[in-house]
Amino acid sequence: MNVAHLLVDGSRRAGGADALVFEGRRTSYPELVDRVARVAAGLRRLGLRPGDRVALLLPNRPELVEMLWACFWGGFVAVPLNWHLHPDEIAYVVEQSGAAAILVSAETSAAADMLPPQVRIIRATAAEGTDASTAYSAVAAARPLDMAAVDDADPAWLFYTSGTTGRPKGATLSHRNLAAMTAAYHADIDPVAPGSSFLHAAPLTHGSGLYLLPAIGRGATNVISPSGNFSPGDYLGQIERHKITHAAFLAPTMLNRIVRDPQFAKYGLSGLRSIVVGGAPLYQEDLRAAVNAFGPIITQMYGQGEAPMTITVMPPGDALAHPGSCGRPFGGIDLRIVAQDGSPVPDGSDGEVIVRGAVVMNGYWKNPKATAETLVDGWLHTGDIGHLDPDDGYLYLTDRAKDVIITGGSNVYPREVEEVLLTHPAVREVAVVGVPDSEWGESVVAYVVTDRTLGADELVGLCKAHLASFKKPRSVVFVDDLPKNATGKIVKRQLREETHLADRQIIR
Ligand code: AMP
Repeated sequence: MNVAHLLVDGSRRAGGADALVFEGRRTSYPELVDRVARVAAGLRRLGLRPGDRVALLLPNRPELVEMLWACFWGGFVAVPLNWHLHPDEIAYVVEQSGAAAILVSAETSAAADMLPPQVRIIRATAAEGTDASTAYSAVAAARPLDMAAVDDADPAWLFYTSGTTGRPKGATLSHRNLAAMTAAYHADIDPVAPGSSFLHAAPLTHGSGLYLLPAIGRGATNVISPSGNFSPGDYLGQIERHKITHAAFLAPTMLNRIVRDPQFAKYGLSGLRSIVVGGAPLYQEDLRAAVNAFGPIITQMYGQGEAPMTITVMPPGDALAHPGSCGRPFGGIDLRIVAQDGSPVPDGSDGEVIVRGAVVMNGYWKNPKATAETLVDGWLHTGDIGHLDPDDGYLYLTDRAKDVIITGGSNVYPREVEEVLLTHPAVREVAVVGVPDSEWGESVVAYVVTDRTLGADELVGLCKAHLASFKKPRSVVFVDDLPKNATGKIVKRQLREETHLADRQIIR
C-alpha cells in the first residue's frame, strides 16, 4: 500500500475544504492531488527512479508539503531536513542518504550550492526580485504520474535524528510505518471529523510533518505557519482567524510560551478541540497551567523518529489524574521495561523502554552497526528510561539514558529535580544537567530562567524539602534563555559543554 492513498482518500472526504492555506494562498484538495501527481511525474522526467532519495530543505511552505507527497506518490524516498542545519551537516546527510535531488528555498539555496554537482537542485522560491515560483513549477510535468506501486516495507521517509550525539542517523520509515502511525492517530488520538482544520507551526520537516498524514487522510484543512520565529501572539491570532480545531503538534516549550502570553485572554479560541504536545517532557506545572488556559483538550504523546508519534498517548481527560505520566501504549504497540542487559525489571522499576509494533522503523539508513545496537530481535531500544505503573499500565518517563546523572554513585533523574524547581512560582524554565566533578563523578547543575531575581539558596532549599539531599543542585545558573533546537527541545548537550565557562552560583 502506497501511503499516498491517504491523499486520494482525503480528497474524496474533503467536501470542498481547502487542503492547504499559507499566507493567503489556498490549495484545494483536487489541486493538491493534481500537483502532487505532476510533480512526481516531473521527478521521473528529471531521471529519478523509484527508491531514489529527495532531500527537502526549506522552512514551512506549501511546496514542502507537495514535494513530500510527490515523493510518496512516485515511490521516491523523502529526506526532510531541518533548514537551520549547518552546511556541513546538510552535506553529510545529503551524501549519507545518497540524495539524487534537493528542494530548497531562498533561505537555504546557499547551502545547496555547495553540494556536489550530481545532486539536482530544485528551487521552491528563486532569489529575490525574480519570479518566485518558476523553477519549482517547471518541475511539475504536464501529465500526472499514476501512483507508484510500492511494497509496504519500502522506505518512504528518512527521518534524520537531531544528532545530539555523533552524526545524525536516518531512521528509515516505510509506507507501512506511516500508515500504521496514521491509523493509530485516528484510533487513539482523534478520528478527525469533517470540517477540521490543523495549524502547523512546528517544522513540517519534523514532528508537524507527520501530522499531515492523519489530517490529509481525513480531508482536513492544513494551515501552514511559516517556521522560524515562533510568536505566541501570531499563533493565537491564526487559531482565531482560521477557526482552527487542531493544534497539530507543539513542543512543550512552545505550549508554555503560548499559555504565558500576556494577551492570551483576548483571543477567541472556542473552536479549538485538540492540542497535541510531545517530543520532550511535559512538566506537571506546565500541563496544569495549559489545562487551566485551554481546558481539557491537551493530548500528550510520546514517540521518536524511530517509532514516529505513537508509542504512548495520554488522552486529555486523563492527564491530570496521572501526573508526570506520558500515557499508555497505543493499540498495537508492545512496550516493555528492561535492565541494561535486556532482562525484565521488577514491576514498577525504572529501566529502558523498548517497543515493538508496526510503527517501528526498518532500521537506520545504510548504518547496520547502529541498527543492530538499536533494533534487537525486533525490539526498538528507545534510549529512554522510565517505569510502568504495574496496576494501570501508565508509563512514567524519567529521562534519556544519556541524561541521567550519576553523582557519588547514585542516579539522579534530571526530570525529578526539574519538576520540583518548576513548582516555584517565579521559575519559568529549567534544565538540569550533570557535569564532571572530581569529587562526585558528576554533579547536578540547574539552569534556571526566572521571572524575577531569586537566590540560588531558595531553589536549593526547595529541592532539599522535596528530594533526597544528593539530588539537590550543587550549582544554579540563572540564564535569560535556554538553548533550543528547531523543534523547541532544550539542547542539554550545549548546556553541559558550556557549564565550565558559566558564571555560576556554587552551593556547597
Ligand atoms: P525525536 O526522535 O527527535 O522526536 O526525539 C524523541 C525523544 O524525545 C524521545 O526518545 C524522548 O526522549 C523524547 N520525548 C518524546 N516525547 C516525550 C514525552 N511525551 N515525554 C518525555 N520525553 C519525550
